[in-house]
Amino acid sequence: MSLRSAKPSDLFSRHPLFQGDASTGGIRRTDGTRVAPFSGELLHALHVALIEHAADFAQDALYRSGYEWALQEMIQVNTRLQSKPNGTKQPIWQTDVPAALELWWTGFADAGWGSCTFDFAGFEKGIVLAEVKNSALAAALAGAEQPMCHLYAGLFAGAMSFRQRAERHAVELQCAALGEPSCLFLIGPGETIDRAEAWRQQGIAAAEIVRQLR
Ligand SMILES: [Zn+2]
Repeated sequence: MSLRSAKPSDLFSRHPLFQGDASTGGIRRTDGTRVAPFSGELLHALHVALIEHAADFAQDALYRSGYEWALQEMIQVNTRLQSKPNGTKQPIWQTDVPAALELWWTGFADAGWGSCTFDFAGFEKGIVLAEVKNSALAAALAGAEQPMCHLYAGLFAGAMSFRQRAERHAVELQCAALGEPSCLFLIGPGETIDRAEAWRQQGIAAAEIVRQLR
């Protein structure tokens, strides 16, 4: 079956997480959210085009896109938490931070953005680590010379800012696009993240940066 001739309902009829909507030609998750498929080639082309045509702006644009996306997903998670028939009906600000983040990431994992493990050992200092395995961007941009998952960094910054109701930043300390086994993100207050990014640019290893900060 070629992708061009197939109807969305045919393509996704056997997938438990996505359903084709023949009336609109769209694809929806089981909660009704509309989604769009992105190939690795498209992610690669998007990054190359952004970097070639707007090098100074590309990283920030990807980070901001992730940040805003995370906020929209958090709003939906918050709505779902409060509308659960048998749930606590608590808003996300009263939900345990690990549970809130893990619930929020479920939608990204289901959509193919990779698995994520959060580490809260530095939480008293406002620091959270997020380790992503199978980053879709790292896979699309393998062989890069710098960490490439700026969109993911923005996602984590947005999610923590929303949950904590305070501005949080994030930086990718190691990236699978450079051959590392996973992508590692540090999330925290702006000045902490600026310091971590400066050390990363000096070539200090991710483990040492984390050790210094928490
Ligand atoms: Zn990465």
